[in-house]
Amino acid sequence: MTLEARKIRLVMELRQQGITDKTVLSALERIPREVFVPENFHDQAYENTALPIGHGQTISQPSVVAYMTQALELGRRMKVLEVGTGCGYQAAVLSRLCRRVYTIERHRELMREAEKRFQKMRIGNIVTRWGDGAKGWPEQAPFDRIIVTAAAEEVPQALKEQLADGGLLIAPVGRNTFDQVLIRLRRNGDEFESEELWPVRFVPLVGGTADEG
Ligand code: SAH
Repeated sequence: MTLEARKIRLVMELRQQGITDKTVLSALERIPREVFVPENFHDQAYENTALPIGHGQTISQPSVVAYMTQALELGRRMKVLEVGTGCGYQAAVLSRLCRRVYTIERHRELMREAEKRFQKMRIGNIVTRWGDGAKGWPEQAPFDRIIVTAAAEEVPQALKEQLADGGLLIAPVGRNTFDQVLIRLRRNGDEFESEELWPVRFVPLVGGTADEG
């Protein structure tokens, strides 16, 4: 089966699993996932599984990317913050659905590789930063939407503070790998309304940065 045929099969699967937002489905169709995974995993790029991307990290499962993107209820004019760029796939999907994506990664090498992919694909509305995403990006706050793609025991306070009034934040929260749930926070002034979405399994949110040279 060609990659294109596998992609169509995956998008159909996602639709059956409850991804009803057409703009999300079409963004998933337009971003080639094979570009974001190592060469030896190309043939698995359109399987609904997470895959290794080096440095002990993973590219998220397509259904998780799809559900999180849909749950963000994006608008074309929105400014979005992503914590945990990884290979850049989620950021690339978001970039098709909002005005600008600000994405932070603590591994310098992963960040550089993601930047190269964005350039190659001529995506011009993603801004990257090497740093500790738990601190957010205060110079660019507030953000209409915030998406965290690594798990912490609770949502970092700095991120809540950088969420715009009326904004949504999505993050996996849990004490360990096997006890995580995706939560969605909606900000109303100084109040945060919290909603549990689904059980998930993400790599941990780690403090500080890593520079492998
Ligand atoms: N969004 C990615 C998934 C990345 S996996 C995708 O589209 O596939 C989670 C990423 O978060 C890893 O690359 C990890 O290095 C990064 N990470 C973990 N803790 C972080 C932190 N405090 N700040 C920034 N990035 C972090």
